[in-house]
Amino acid sequence: MTTLVIAEHDNASIKGATLNTVTAAVACGGDVHVLVAGHNAAAAAQAAAQIAGVAKVIHADAAGLAHGLAENVAAQVLAIASHYSHILFPATAGGKNVAPRVAAKLDVAQISDITKVVSADTFERPIYAGNAIATVQSADSVKVITVRTTGFDAAAATGGSAAVETAAATADNGKSSFIGSEIAKSDRPELTAAKIIVSGGRALGSAEKFNEVITPLADKLGAAIGASRAAVDAGYAPNDLQVGQTGKIVAPQLYIAAGISGAIQHLAGMKDSKVIVAINKDPEAPIFSVADYGLEADLFTAVPELIKAL
Ligand SMILES: Cc1cc2nc3c(=O)[nH]c(=O)nc-3n(C[C@H](O)[C@H](O)[C@H](O)COP(=O)(O)OP(=O)(O)OC[C@H]3O[C@@H](n4cnc5c(N)ncnc54)[C@H](O)[C@@H]3O)c2cc1C
Repeated sequence: MTTLVIAEHDNASIKGATLNTVTAAVACGGDVHVLVAGHNAAAAAQAAAQIAGVAKVIHADAAGLAHGLAENVAAQVLAIASHYSHILFPATAGGKNVAPRVAAKLDVAQISDITKVVSADTFERPIYAGNAIATVQSADSVKVITVRTTGFDAAAATGGSAAVETAAATADNGKSSFIGSEIAKSDRPELTAAKIIVSGGRALGSAEKFNEVITPLADKLGAAIGASRAAVDAGYAPNDLQVGQTGKIVAPQLYIAAGISGAIQHLAGMKDSKVIVAINKDPEAPIFSVADYGLEADLFTAVPELIKAL
């Protein structure tokens, strides 16, 4: 029994979600191999070889794999899939783009968004926006799985010494091509990797107020900024800051929700945070039911006071 983890990387380094996925892979039992499919990605392959618990890194290098195009990465996974009992992807935008293609081609059911490995064929996954946990057992010969990264600790990025093996890269299938990307540059920690998140909701009322109130608190705490969907839909915050069922799933050490009611779709993305602080002027707001610390107050007064006190 051997598990293949599909690494998320930028050709130079391995992204954090890969480390959590390796932990899930180790829990499946057997050896863990990591596929680094990229272009000029030797540095990423070497980084993958350092991850504790990894027995082998398979490095496939070709121009068609440079940008993680789903069609080409799926073909690369399928080229080596027959050696594996489990194929694990992080449940990120990238992983979720490739995994279903692999599962469909292998004619197996994908097991999505697992939060626990019970045994080699049995897994837990949240359903109904995290309000129930389903235990699913798969009889398929190959388990194609996406891993909710907040459900597993990150494997140590160093300490391993896996061999790096070169695999023949599959041909570019030409069904899609990379045109360009616009990557927002920020000194802030990335939302899904941040230890502290300050999130704002509809109560902020405008993009200017969101920036004026939430940003200084996040600056003070070295935190990432998040937002409710209402705040994103109203244009107060960019789309990639949305936390929740249809946004990012986060589990930081500290999550501060200011002017967020706590709809179940928002809670689905943050209720596993270690400490939750809610600032809301409505004592009945559902966010208080998951908060470790609740402050019933007007955020426009409370947040500046908090910043001053820090
Ligand atoms: C299929 C589906 C998917 C969804 N996915 C997501 C998702 O991923 N993420 C998400 O967040 N939502 C999601 N939603 C939307 C969700 O249902 C809520 O509409 C949304 O979370 C509400 O955002 P909010 O809490 O900012 O706004 P509101 O619910 O309007 O809450 C605003 C809160 O601010 C408080 N407030 C107002 N003024 C102040 C003040 N001055 N000081 C302090 N508090 C104040 C109010 O008491 C209220 O509790 C989804 C909905 C659907 C149907």
